[in-house]
Amino acid sequence: SIVMEKMLRRRSLQLRNQQVAWQESPEGLKMLEFRKSLPSYKEKEALLQAISRNQVVVISGETGCGKTTQLPQYILESEIDNGHGATCSIICTQPRRISAMAVAERVAAERGENLGESVGYKVRLEGIKGRDTRLLFCTTGILLRRLLVDRNLKGVTHVFVDEIHERGMNEDFLLVVLKDLLLHRPELKLILMSATLNAELFSSYFSGSPMMHIPGFTYPVRTHFLENVLEIIGHRLTPYNQIDDYGQEKSWKMQKQALRKRKSQIATSVEDALEAADFRDCSSRTRESLACWNPDSIGFNLIESVLVHICQKERPGAILVFMTGWDDINSLKEQLQSHLLLGDPTKVLILPCHGSMASSEQRLIFDKPQNGARKIVLATNMAETSITINDVVFVVDCGKAKETSYDALNNTPCLLPTWISKASARQRRGRAGRVQPGECYHLYPKCVYDVFADYQLPELLRTPLQSLCLQIKSLRLGSISEFLSRALQSPEALSVQNAIEYLKVIGALDEKQELTILGRHLAILPVEPKLGKMLIFGAIFRCLDPILTVVAGLSVRDPFLTPFDKKDLADSAKSQFSCRDYSDHLALIRAYEGWKDAEKDHSGYDYCWKNFLSAQTMKAIDSLRKQFHFLLKDPGLVDENLMSYNIWSRDENLVRAVICAGLFPGICSVVNKERSIALKTMEDGQVMLYSLQNPRMNIQTREELLHAIRLLVTEDPCSGQFVFGRQELQPKIIKSLLPTSSGNGGGGDNPKNQLQMMLTRAGHENPTYKTKQLKSNQFRAT
Ligand code: ADP
Ligand code: MG
Repeated sequence: SIVMEKMLRRRSLQLRNQQVAWQESPEGLKMLEFRKSLPSYKEKEALLQAISRNQVVVISGETGCGKTTQLPQYILESEIDNGHGATCSIICTQPRRISAMAVAERVAAERGENLGESVGYKVRLEGIKGRDTRLLFCTTGILLRRLLVDRNLKGVTHVFVDEIHERGMNEDFLLVVLKDLLLHRPELKLILMSATLNAELFSSYFSGSPMMHIPGFTYPVRTHFLENVLEIIGHRLTPYNQIDDYGQEKSWKMQKQALRKRKSQIATSVEDALEAADFRDCSSRTRESLACWNPDSIGFNLIESVLVHICQKERPGAILVFMTGWDDINSLKEQLQSHLLLGDPTKVLILPCHGSMASSEQRLIFDKPQNGARKIVLATNMAETSITINDVVFVVDCGKAKETSYDALNNTPCLLPTWISKASARQRRGRAGRVQPGECYHLYPKCVYDVFADYQLPELLRTPLQSLCLQIKSLRLGSISEFLSRALQSPEALSVQNAIEYLKVIGALDEKQELTILGRHLAILPVEPKLGKMLIFGAIFRCLDPILTVVAGLSVRDPFLTPFDKKDLADSAKSQFSCRDYSDHLALIRAYEGWKDAEKDHSGYDYCWKNFLSAQTMKAIDSLRKQFHFLLKDPGLVDENLMSYNIWSRDENLVRAVICAGLFPGICSVVNKERSIALKTMEDGQVMLYSLQNPRMNIQTREELLHAIRLLVTEDPCSGQFVFGRQELQPKIIKSLLPTSSGNGGGGDNPKNQLQMMLTRAGHENPTYKTKQLKSNQFRAT
């Protein structure tokens, strides 16, 4: 150990010399000068002192003041200066993988190093980290997983948890675990960093730990709400009454024109919506009434008009547009690139900014464009706090963001847009005032803003509880209820209990509340358990393609449009798709397949137009399908050989059965009565009356539903157990496809192996599924 100590001392000395050499080099000096200009620099000594004197410190400061890049670096530098270079180990978590990578790269550059020397990063499936890496940026999920195998974080001296104001689920989880750990590791330092002043909650959670604020300076930002924006752009939108009737037969060209007009109609419906929803009276409205106010339907036209206005009339300066997601960003980018109104195309630089872009693209966002071009950055809400673009003067805010349901795969955006909070709107506005006074265009009325929530609900409280429980179990955080009761803010105990019960019923948790094999697979998929189950079953029963469509469809909105003045036409368009069976799900599958064919010869829009389908929703379904497919491929639930997962895709009864299996126990059996329809829930046999809106569909649905349920569950005459599967396949039954008690399925502890075994069995022998939850009397009663 003396040798060891000697070696460490030598290494520390080396690190110090290296650091000093860089700081004294011309580039190093230049970098230092930049770093000294950041607001955090003035607080450096005070911060270092607070950290050394307290186990936990909560630090807040405006975005861009230098929290993420500077604070961990100050610690690293001071440890190296003090000769502890070789023994310190600093971890800084980021909610998103892209920020972990970008920040690590930036800090390495500020230290005149390559990634993997003293600074590294680690995100899921990727990372650069060397033997001498002392400062590691990683996603919160990575640290949580490390805690599974290394409960005490051996050797770690400092943990920074960044962006805690976002209240992501992983961050909230991490804080519960770290709070315990601090008791066992009195020398471990925990630093919480936040972009807002809302630090009291965290401080009191850690028994009154000190709060520090980094004062920052921002220029005033002029704020325009929609009323104002419309005035500024001079209502450059087509009036509503010039729109042709929807759904009339037209030549292809006319349809295209009409479509363009319809887009603008949607845009002007901003005014209509103002009228119709009577926003003047917004204060008395609930937040729900805002659901009808959809920025998607504002269309790009409004954003486009604002951009044209800025490019033509306003002073130079970069524009930052907040949009909801990757799809919208790409479509708007395409639309803008062919748009001459923005001016000389060589003088306009349109850059997308979202979680899945390459790092070479990233750099362009930070750089000032050459030749004085105007930079337009189309970003998701990650540009709100975790990324700073320095030259932004104009902000365009569409008012919505996609909320993550949960983040098992580190940010998979299979999510829906929802209204942002006042705090987010303020944050977005603030992006405009970093270098000079700025302008912010909110594309929603002031009265809508007034009823925004003050802060976004913590993810822990808005994640579906069932998914939350699965996550807690898969991270092995102990008893679900007990763990949640120790969180910063816990969901209601009764709802948690209900969620646990549900998970038991669907076979994701066993009696001891431990994950079953099915549960473990469901926990990997960042979708609601019922959708996850459909996906897994779709793969097992080899009808994946239609199931991907159904799951995607259930995750977005209904693509079937019913314009209120064309209801009959729309209805009959839809009934073409559901002709034989009146199933909404099968209708969706057929509509999607038809659209996909039409897309091949670029007539997707025409197809949607004729069939009263929303082209935008179809595109969203298409993109979600790809995401879900990726999600299944990633943990090895399916492989590249797609054909083999679609052997039974044309078997509509099987598809229906898989859908029912996913929806279980949310399915009912139909009690045949003369005139009325009573439905019996599968779970507790409760009878409820069910009224379908469209009486035409009742009778068909009843039979079809019965049929599907018969296919779904049948009693095995030999074992007396209920088996799942197609009757034709019964002779070749395999035993317990998904073992009902955990651990006896073979294939070791590795879920991937186990699933592969399941899939092999399903392929070579014959799929059967023990639905142990279904008691025979319940089934017979149906
Ligand atoms: P905070 O975490 O407080 O929001 P950061 O530490 O991320 O702030 O950034 C501090 C400053 O460092 C930013 O204002 C920006 O000027 C600069 N900066 C950060 N990342 C980069 C980068 N990748 N390239 C150039 N400058 C950067
Ligand atoms: Mg930061």
